[in-house]
Amino acid sequence: MAGKNWNDAAICQHYFEDNKQYYGAVTPPIVQTTLFTFDTFDEFVNASNHERENHLYCRGVNPTTEILEKKLAMLEGGEQAKVFGSGMGAISATLFTLLKAGDHILLVNNVYGPATIYSKTLEKFHVECTNVFVEEAEEIEPYVRPNTKVIYYESPSTQMMYLLDVEKIVEIARRHHALTMTDNTWSTPLYQKPLKYGVDIVVHSCTKYIGGHSDVMAGAVISRREIVDKIFEIGHQFQGAAIGPFESWLLIRGLRSLEARLEHQARTVEKVVGMLKEHPMVKQVNHPLCFSGRQKELADKYLTGYTSLLSIELDTTAYEEVKKVADACEIFQIGVSWGGFESLILPQNHGDNEEYLNQAHIPAGLIRLYLGMESAEDLIQDLNQALDKIRK
Ligand SMILES: *Cc1c(COP(=O)(O)O)cnc(C)c1O
Repeated sequence: MAGKNWNDAAICQHYFEDNKQYYGAVTPPIVQTTLFTFDTFDEFVNASNHERENHLYCRGVNPTTEILEKKLAMLEGGEQAKVFGSGMGAISATLFTLLKAGDHILLVNNVYGPATIYSKTLEKFHVECTNVFVEEAEEIEPYVRPNTKVIYYESPSTQMMYLLDVEKIVEIARRHHALTMTDNTWSTPLYQKPLKYGVDIVVHSCTKYIGGHSDVMAGAVISRREIVDKIFEIGHQFQGAAIGPFESWLLIRGLRSLEARLEHQARTVEKVVGMLKEHPMVKQVNHPLCFSGRQKELADKYLTGYTSLLSIELDTTAYEEVKKVADACEIFQIGVSWGGFESLILPQNHGDNEEYLNQAHIPAGLIRLYLGMESAEDLIQDLNQALDKIRK
């Protein structure tokens, strides 16, 4: 397929796979090894001097993982990708590599919780960290400092689904010589391509939609060659969040059905949102399907599709009521994460975390919902009966 103009579907199904190399098998082999050997010592020395380009040791480069990395880089329109053993592995390796004492990192709105805590932890190495909450991207400018090295945001954010003007963030960052970094897990590379708008670094938790079956942990970073090489050399090699070959193979398999799963879930989310908007106990539905005005404009500009993670704000802030809805669900299961086959419900109010909710600007009546691969009708019925339990 040389010279082919690869579209997303072709990348997921065929890119960087060469059946002839492995007996004509239609799926690539799982190269389940920890190391590679060499015919001569010269060859070994050459490989160890250029570990990024060679198969030497599997906390470096593995051929199965390379197939996945090539596909992810191509899907995001980036030069290179590096895959890690988890999303946090990718995020912490990236920040650890790029930041040094005296630098400043600016977090915008709700960046993934553990990533926010990690960024604040870097203060012990004298990296300054600020978390700002803004409505419009231009409002971040006063918070940018001469030493700001990274501006890190999520759009949509995974609690409130709040969108930011990506091009505006890029413009501000460039003017101040800072790098932009975004977490594109919600959209997947199929529904948003931030690098196209000038963002420098994209990270993913592949544990979510890309894996797609709630059975594999992984993460990825995609950027220019020079940046990914540096992250490989420092954060990947020394922090050691390497992925195993079998996990990479599961992700290659996940990519095969990603588009079909997302399309099914997009149809489901339309129906479920329709019901939620009508329920008297739901004050607000946070999902691009429900946006109007500026948020709708941003969704139209940056997203080519909507995935099935959303949140609702109940017409109550009482912990007892929030809990009652979660407990009453029969199909939606209580649990963290998302992107798999199973629908999940997760209130953010734990009854003992008011301070956190205030800090993170999360309403006490907020419930996150993930719509899996069950039928829309079953999910609607389940949510209806659960919400009816708190009907006034
Ligand atoms: C889950 C998640 C992460 C972290 O990924 P892990 O694979 O759990 O380490 C990062 N960002 C977002 C948006 C996530 O949902």
